[in-house]
Amino acid sequence: MRTVLLNPGPVTLTERVRLALVRDDMCHREPDFAEICLDIKQKLLQVYAESPSEYDAILLAGSGTCAVEAMLASFAPRETRTLVVTNGVYGERMAAMLTAHGRPHEVLTGDWLAPLDLAEVERRLTADPTLTHVATVQHETTTGRLNDLDGVVNICQRLRRSILLDAVSSFGAERIDFDNECLAAVAGTGGKCLHGVPGTAFVIARRSLFAAKSTDVGCVYLDLFRYQKEQLCGFSPFTPAVQSCFALQEALSELQESGGWKARRARYRNRSSHVRNTLLELGVSMLLPAEAYSSMLTSFVLPEGSEYPALHDELRAAGFVIYASQGALVQRAFRIATMGDITPDDLARLSAALGSVMRGLPCLR
Ligand SMILES: *Cc1c(COP(=O)(O)O)cnc(C)c1O
Repeated sequence: MRTVLLNPGPVTLTERVRLALVRDDMCHREPDFAEICLDIKQKLLQVYAESPSEYDAILLAGSGTCAVEAMLASFAPRETRTLVVTNGVYGERMAAMLTAHGRPHEVLTGDWLAPLDLAEVERRLTADPTLTHVATVQHETTTGRLNDLDGVVNICQRLRRSILLDAVSSFGAERIDFDNECLAAVAGTGGKCLHGVPGTAFVIARRSLFAAKSTDVGCVYLDLFRYQKEQLCGFSPFTPAVQSCFALQEALSELQESGGWKARRARYRNRSSHVRNTLLELGVSMLLPAEAYSSMLTSFVLPEGSEYPALHDELRAAGFVIYASQGALVQRAFRIATMGDITPDDLARLSAALGSVMRGLPCLR
């Protein structure tokens, strides 16, 4: 029996991507590997049709956090300030990074169960012209909420501010409108919606940012200015995650050939509504209103009398890995993601497994 990952990355690989990992050994300083990097960079830019000419993609060896931190260390200003708009773990992590890198910022801390407070964002930006940048998360994986990126873009466009976006759990499956002057940089990873393996992350940033080198980045490994220059020819300053790049290249081809991000979103939505309907019928409710969720992740309220570890273990024994919640929500909720290679047969087995676990609970019997 195969194990299906229902956590928000790493994902269950398709056979095609898994096979791409097994290749002849390659040195990252050879032209054949540089070609792979250039191809990945180009394919990343092509995921969203509007992005190629104005943006450059930079590859990093690291997890999603590495890309977010590199983006903030390289582009969050020292002279002006950044407004961090957050409603979950990942937004709060962005604030922690700005603190660690000594960048002046202010945090608009939102309730984890609430949408971003856009009226307050507008009020603060209007009141304070030194807040030149906004850092936020498109898909807050803490709860599965798809934040209103259009709303943030709208405000930043009007008030001429720059956005530094964590799209680690949405790049490749949710809409990101790159056709906007205010979208300065976007951090993503190969191991979530793109269906590669962990190890390669990336930042897509406006080319104009690299022309104006003024920031003292203050660290070596995360200096995107250095990567950008060297990667123009496909070479990286430090050793890339070679095999992870093999997987990402194949995964990007697969994404392209299977209809791009919109088709992927549609598939995720179908799977998510299957999972939601199954659990609703069993009497398990969602943590947020249905319309708040991203295409690929749902948080559910832990039914009364159930403990997450037991729920996890029973599903694990049936071949499914679900995901705990975070922070104060750990005792209250659990999460199910629908990224990766999940077949209709897997979904049918999952429904059966959820049914037998939930029906065993006194409160749902
Ligand atoms: C997963 C995730 C990250 C961090 O990624 P790691 O690969 O765990 O470092 C950052 N932001 C969001 C929104 C994520 O979902």
